[in-house]
Amino acid sequence: MTIILMGPPGAGKGTHGSELSKMFKIPHVSTGDLFRNSERMKEVVGQYVNAGLLVPDEVADPFIHGELKQRFPEGYILDGYPRTAKQAEELLRWIAGHEDVLLIELVVEPAILRERLEGRRVCSTCRSVTNTAIPGYSDGCACGGTFKKRPDDDMTIAQARLLQYEVDTIPAISVLVKAGIHHIKVHPGDVLGQISTAFGHSLSRG
Ligand code: AMP
Repeated sequence: MTIILMGPPGAGKGTHGSELSKMFKIPHVSTGDLFRNSERMKEVVGQYVNAGLLVPDEVADPFIHGELKQRFPEGYILDGYPRTAKQAEELLRWIAGHEDVLLIELVVEPAILRERLEGRRVCSTCRSVTNTAIPGYSDGCACGGTFKKRPDDDMTIAQARLLQYEVDTIPAISVLVKAGIHHIKVHPGDVLGQISTAFGHSLSRG
């Protein structure tokens, strides 16, 4: 099973991706995390990731494809790829022959996205995510680590990432939909409920 999870920065792809991973028992693969966690890639792509710029295709594509093939051959919930129409074409080649492919698009108001990105904090040790808007927020994570702001959540960079989503990534959704991938749009609220209803429906339509 392959789920392509798309949505603008701050839409909750990380949170919902890991919930869906438990629900469907398939791994959640965040391409941003693949880059951030790879010692080999950190050097090469750090400047792009921290500045909120897309890693060039000639670096991103072979690395991501290699990780998916080697580490997640049974399928995955893909979060962060594709980011452009060209990457969408590439992904269609990678998943040719996969059964049960579903595209889940998270749709969230821009004002809410800006608020979430402004307050988002990630634990530098266990990578869990929280928000300063949550009552009782403290910089200390339960694991003993410290919550920090991602460099690319700085508001100027975050605005550019939101624009990049509109300009580059929305066209990627169209490429996948035109290729016949089942497409579900979900809105804030009972996200998992909306997904499981639509997912069952989409599978039963075969
Ligand atoms: P994310 O955690 O998904 O917001 O991704 C963080 C950063 O990783 C992005 O701003 C890019 O620098 C890089 N990145 C993640 N996925 C891709 C991709 N599909 N293509 C190019 N760069 C990517």
